[in-house]
Amino acid sequence: MDASQSFPELEQRVLERWRERDVFHESIRRREGAPPFIFYEGPPTANGRPGSHHVLSRVFKDVFPRYKTMRGHFVPRKAGWDCHGLPVELEIEKELGFRNKHDIERFGIAEFNARCRESVLRYIDEWNELTDRIGFWIDTDDAYFTLDPNYVESVWWSLKRVWEKGLLVEGNRVVPYCTRCGTALSSHELALGYKDVVDPSVFVKFRLLDEPDVSLLAWTTMPWTLVPHAAIAVDPDVDYVRARLGDDRLILAEALVERVLGEDAEIEERMPGSALLGLRYEPPFPYITDYGERGHTVLAGDFVSIEDGTGVVHTGAAFGEDDFRLATENGLTIHNPVRPDGTFDERTGPFAGMHVREADAHIVEALRESGRLFRAGEYQHSYPHCWRCDTPLIYYAKKNWYVRTTGVKDELLAANETIDWHPEHIKHGRFGNWLENNVDWALSRERYWGTPLPVWRCGEGHVVCVGSLAEIGERGGEPPEDVHRPFIDEVVLTCEDCGGEMRRVPDLIDVWWDSGCMPFAQWHAPFENEELASERFPADYICEALDQTRGWFYSLLAVSVLLNGEASYRTCLCLGLILDPEGQKMSKSKGNVVVPWDVLKEHGADAFRWYYFTSKQPWDGYRFSLETVGESVRQFLKPLWNTYAFYVLYANVNEPSGESAETELDRWIRSRLSATTERVIERMEDYDTTFAGRAIAGFVDDLSNWYVRLSRRRFWDGDPAAFDTLRECLLGAAKLLAPLTPFVTDEIYDNLDGSEPSVHLCDFPEPGARDEELEWQMQVVRDAVELGRAARAHARLKVRQPLHEAVVVAADRERGAIERLDALLKDELNVKSVRYVSEADELGRFELKPNYRALGPRFGKQMPQVAAAIAALDPAQLRAGGRAGLNFDGHEHEIGPDDVTLVLQPLEGYQVERSGTHAVALNLELDEELRREGLAREVVHAVQAARKNAGLEVEDRISLTLGGDDELLAAARAHEDYVAGETLATSLAFDGSSGEAESAEIEGRHLSISVRLAAK
Ligand SMILES: [Zn+2]
Ligand SMILES: [Zn+2]
Repeated sequence: MDASQSFPELEQRVLERWRERDVFHESIRRREGAPPFIFYEGPPTANGRPGSHHVLSRVFKDVFPRYKTMRGHFVPRKAGWDCHGLPVELEIEKELGFRNKHDIERFGIAEFNARCRESVLRYIDEWNELTDRIGFWIDTDDAYFTLDPNYVESVWWSLKRVWEKGLLVEGNRVVPYCTRCGTALSSHELALGYKDVVDPSVFVKFRLLDEPDVSLLAWTTMPWTLVPHAAIAVDPDVDYVRARLGDDRLILAEALVERVLGEDAEIEERMPGSALLGLRYEPPFPYITDYGERGHTVLAGDFVSIEDGTGVVHTGAAFGEDDFRLATENGLTIHNPVRPDGTFDERTGPFAGMHVREADAHIVEALRESGRLFRAGEYQHSYPHCWRCDTPLIYYAKKNWYVRTTGVKDELLAANETIDWHPEHIKHGRFGNWLENNVDWALSRERYWGTPLPVWRCGEGHVVCVGSLAEIGERGGEPPEDVHRPFIDEVVLTCEDCGGEMRRVPDLIDVWWDSGCMPFAQWHAPFENEELASERFPADYICEALDQTRGWFYSLLAVSVLLNGEASYRTCLCLGLILDPEGQKMSKSKGNVVVPWDVLKEHGADAFRWYYFTSKQPWDGYRFSLETVGESVRQFLKPLWNTYAFYVLYANVNEPSGESAETELDRWIRSRLSATTERVIERMEDYDTTFAGRAIAGFVDDLSNWYVRLSRRRFWDGDPAAFDTLRECLLGAAKLLAPLTPFVTDEIYDNLDGSEPSVHLCDFPEPGARDEELEWQMQVVRDAVELGRAARAHARLKVRQPLHEAVVVAADRERGAIERLDALLKDELNVKSVRYVSEADELGRFELKPNYRALGPRFGKQMPQVAAAIAALDPAQLRAGGRAGLNFDGHEHEIGPDDVTLVLQPLEGYQVERSGTHAVALNLELDEELRREGLAREVVHAVQAARKNAGLEVEDRISLTLGGDDELLAAARAHEDYVAGETLATSLAFDGSSGEAESAEIEGRHLSISVRLAAK
């Protein structure tokens, strides 16, 4: 038994054993037919290396299925991989050095998609290896892949159902749009990419046609939208002014005059916003002018803010949701001169061909030249960026396919009510709010690698949504072998209405829809396995990072509600961010990324898991480093292992024999095990590893620092009851811990029991009987020991020095508790006897000390007299909260409890330690006999060290020769049996002449120790 066991090494051994015994599959097989507990794997993308944050979600995905299996449930675990989408395309674009979609089209969609397909599984081996190494039990052999034609067909089936319900629609709307990726994003993707940025802040003058020396003053942070400027909006109910500043006469909201124009502006006229409606003005640029009757006029807008800007809002009809609505309501012609790649088209004069963002500076310059610029500066705000490629998004009117999730908003909210969220506040906070503000799901993506939108259209504009490969055949098409682009694009259907050719719309669908379909698509349901899919619906448990409230948690719920009207998961655990120790996000550029393999190599998977499970509530986020994981080893795994190693060591050298009775300590630790079992079950049922783990840590601490320490002698003597109890406690702890730290617990179980092939094939422990009275009594004794030890520490007396007496303040029930267990107290405090008193007074004398802070200001220079008078008062009078009179200086002065401090002066020769009403005093008087006994213990201690230095095994017998200081030798002689017994000396001699003696110093006295292995 190696006390300095390397956990990473141990874990390799355990992994090997699991493989040999096929423990994971066996754990599932054995529960076939048992009540199921359903887990859904939110599929990761394997086109990048797994990081430490992946370890976080994967160990939380592991721990409850393991626990539920041990609790008697059948817990199938199917792995899955997310294969489609923009992230995958971006990686390939990067590899090929592509800048935009033209590059992809030139390269060829078939070839591009072939690369995407190859790349999504590029790191799957590393993922599988890591999954295995951290003990995440999931069926990777039977994984689902979202690129699989069967999977895609199930996704099509879901879209067809949504289509049939009239909830899959095409519409021209303003969408957040990434010009680099050339595609719209959904609102949940939008939420993933807000960043603080500095944009231009531009105040622009719009000259009125009828009064050219008066201008409307508008503000924008996107100067490029001024090129397709359509109209101006004001709030009819807000007060506006015409203000003069230098040569400028400007119209803006009254509330913003000072902020925008400063204090020197002179107000010429006030008017309500309604008075401005219909005013005509010169547009800032002359390139696009045809906006219809009400173009380039002042309109009423309900979105005008007077929080910032000027209260006069410039709108480019196609480039904002409010703008678009305003334009539609007022019958404006909507022009969008921005091409899908973000460049201006030929209608924009000198800006044609420029990317809109790049055009900003040129536009500001042009405004300055034409005298329309009032002021240009910078503006810092939070602005959405593409979550994959980091390009600032633009809002952009275009045709898109939507899923009308707003049509099922009430059902979404109702379904959310059925979900048990951890932490609870997500339900009506982050997630509930998200659902409350639901907008339709912008589903289509103008991209290449993903599930094709199964919509075909003929020249007459008839449209069908196809729900299966068979349906393609039924509609006169040839189902392709590869359902991806470009092959699916070649499929031509025959229109049922007009007989014309139908071609597929070129779009793909949002990749989040794919993962939302996993409850049925992973089984190719309803085309196959329909019964299985419904048996395994909904999930009892899912778990991902907190940001998935806008990702998978949403898509999983939305798809399910759209199809079935109910939630697809019952319990959802949200995990926080992984930060570095300074609270910074981990990123390659900062160089603070902790690679999971390094953690595993240094500390092992159990330590990694234990850190994640118990260091805090998992949604609070982690400040993580290699060192913080090391704490798991030092604070928990080592003490656990050392206790186990102690058992094994003593069980090997001291075959337990003879009859023995259970002691109070045995009963106590068993009761503690029962209490811990109760607590762990209660916590794990509530998906709380933090407090389940801490309960076990508390038990292991009790076991090693109290039970084992106080029972050493019994182990030495081979007491069967002690061995039984410790073994039972270690096995109990191993089983409780098995879901959390599956490796070390398997090793302990295998060695101490091994009746099953693995601890993970055992049933979870049921709590045994408890003796709560005994648990309480033991706590009283431990508190008393704490106080006694503190008293020793203050008196600078080593525990090895025996003392005559401890005096304990304890009455009634507490006294009964200590009396029952007073042998423990005597041993722990190393005292010959325990005496009880019922009041702390009996441990000394209370003295009154003046409270200078209270009395000083009152008595000033008279304080010395006051202090003397206070010392003479009866402490009992003030102790009970009463008052006393001080008579000096010819006056009576009243003194209350706040004016004095009560100090317990211990009796002569005692050291007292007090905490609340509890107190323990130690009699410090030493006589010759106690001193000698103390020295004998010191000698034993020194000999034990010498044994260790000589490399002896604990069970080795020795012949011992001592020499040196007379007093030390006299002490050892006086306690010869004790010294010999403790050090396993078969002979003890006192000549001290041995040549290879080791030297020790005890209280400044010299001792020479010679230790030799005794003949057997
Ligand atoms: Zn992008
Ligand atoms: Zn048709």
